[in-house]
Amino acid sequence: MPAASVRRDGTGHPEPALPCIRYAEAMRPRHAYVHVPFCRHRCGYCDFTLVAGRDDLVERYFAALGRELERVSSAAESGDGSACLALDTLYLGGGTPSHLGPDGLRRLFAILRERLRPASDAEVSLEANPLDVTPDFVAAAQDCGVTRVSLGGQSLDAATLRALDRDHGPDDVRRAVGLLHDAGLVVSLDLMTAAPGQSLTAVERDLAAAVALAPAHISVYCLTWEQGTAFAAARRRGELAAAPEDLERAMFESAIDRLEAAGYEHYEVSNFARPGHRCRHNEAYWDCRPWEAVGPGAARFDGRTRITNHRSTTTWIKRVLAGEDCSGAVDAMSAEDAARERLVVGLRRRDGVERGEFLAASGCNLDSVAGPAVTRWVAAGLATDDGRNVRLTRAGLLVSDTLWADVL
Ligand code: SF4
Repeated sequence: MPAASVRRDGTGHPEPALPCIRYAEAMRPRHAYVHVPFCRHRCGYCDFTLVAGRDDLVERYFAALGRELERVSSAAESGDGSACLALDTLYLGGGTPSHLGPDGLRRLFAILRERLRPASDAEVSLEANPLDVTPDFVAAAQDCGVTRVSLGGQSLDAATLRALDRDHGPDDVRRAVGLLHDAGLVVSLDLMTAAPGQSLTAVERDLAAAVALAPAHISVYCLTWEQGTAFAAARRRGELAAAPEDLERAMFESAIDRLEAAGYEHYEVSNFARPGHRCRHNEAYWDCRPWEAVGPGAARFDGRTRITNHRSTTTWIKRVLAGEDCSGAVDAMSAEDAARERLVVGLRRRDGVERGEFLAASGCNLDSVAGPAVTRWVAAGLATDDGRNVRLTRAGLLVSDTLWADVL
């Protein structure tokens, strides 16, 4: 990368150079995440890094993304003369990447292609709002090399969608899935449970309706009441109520039972896939493989240190375009802390954690990191341990979030 690059605004003044990453061979990421922070509307429960109704920022976002990508370079090591990072998976999340529309998506990929090069068999995922999925958008996604669309459907019930403050209806989800399937794209459908006022019967209807659409992958998330959201404020005022804990559990168990019966493998706490359709990108996260990440609030990981970009879209844009460091939190882990984290994310998967692989990947013995905790979980029926693999049971998965404090 040159020490200074020519301004894209045509002034001819050199811009300050951003630091360039030269990856060691073993740590060179094969996975990248791009955060697209734009939404039409902020859903009442959402605390993600995004701006709603600020399409005026899109041009500066594109400029900043191009600048941030300048630090992604593997040229010296790759030996192929290119400044691109070769990828097995690329994931565009947000926000709502589909909010960019067909032309915006083409522009985004033109910028990404300067530094990120998905392999010919790469998984290229894009998050989409059902309302954005038009024939033109699907054609643009195909032209850009997208292979998989993660559709923020959340429900196929009009009352639940209203309760979740979503801006689409059930027919929008059905139409979007149809268009994506007609184009041969892999569809992952998000569903949400424990929405305000949602009954177990409503969840069961949603699961049946989702199965009828035959997406290759389904993610089921339980509504969480995040601080600072409109939902949390309404709950404090007594206008909204959280589902009782036993109802939340019944909904989760129903999802596991019904989706497994329909041929979906429950391979991670919240994720279900038809054979051969696990999300490869998320598998890389759960394996703690290194990944690159760009955009506001995006977190990158080199196997030991996680660096999260500033969460404010406007601050991230300003800092990147000024050539300043756009990092927010830096989490540099010791070898043992990294091993603990590896164990926790590994146990979210139904395959569990295999002792030999854990030792080889982390350099730490599983029993020295978490032996007493595993013994307690097994005694309580929350995990199984056959001497080789440690796996959470269904009872353990149901309370998994409460177990991690035993290890971390
Ligand atoms: S569309 Fe998704 S990212 Fe955007 S506000 Fe709603 S939940 Fe959040």
